[in-house]
Amino acid sequence: MNLVLMGLPGAGKGTQAEKIVAKYDVPHISTGDMFRAAMSEGTELGLQAKSFMDKGELVPDEVTIGIVRERLSKADCEKGFLLDGFPRTVPQAEALENILSELGRNIDYVINIQVDQNILMERLTGRRICKSCGATYHLVFNPPAETGVCDRCGGELYQRPDDNEETVQNRLEVNVKQTQPLLDFYEEKGYLKNINGQQHIDQVFSDIDSLLRDLK
Ligand code: AMP
Repeated sequence: MNLVLMGLPGAGKGTQAEKIVAKYDVPHISTGDMFRAAMSEGTELGLQAKSFMDKGELVPDEVTIGIVRERLSKADCEKGFLLDGFPRTVPQAEALENILSELGRNIDYVINIQVDQNILMERLTGRRICKSCGATYHLVFNPPAETGVCDRCGGELYQRPDDNEETVQNRLEVNVKQTQPLLDFYEEKGYLKNINGQQHIDQVFSDIDSLLRDLK
């Protein structure tokens, strides 16, 4: 089961990745997580990635492709993998084709979780986080019992600075621009499967699951 998971911020990619990994027991390969781990371990890779990540820029393709090549060659990927956050550019997608063909493999599906931008805006700007324990709420979908107060620990709730309307709009626009060429690339190859991400979490997973059930 060789999968790539795509979706704009707020589309529910993280939630669905967890469910796929729990059911199918394939390694979850998130380049963002790999870079963050390298940074906290203070490795050479971490140092290389840090300056780009701090500015919100993409880490150069040759670095990113290198770590993915290494990771996909490990034994645990023989049964499959779920790539998350990679590829982010067409050259990365082309490199992935080469890496997989060297390994005698190919992508089964590119799962794209689709949610309208105005809904993503509502999901992201409504998010509130507890200053003390980090619990997350949503003003509309998961409100705390008392406004501005954490149910779990009584801490004060706040809005992350990058969850304000203007920044979210910008993040979404940048992401759409980045993602569209990749969606076109995979559509042409016949790998792309669009999933309606505006349904209940369990229904989104059930749609993904019906695609995956027959894959090895
Ligand atoms: P993420 O957790 O996927 O949002 O990634 C966090 C940061 O890691 C991004 O803003 C980039 O700086 C870097 N990063 C993650 N994946 C990639 C990738 N495929 N190509 C380049 N940079 C990446």
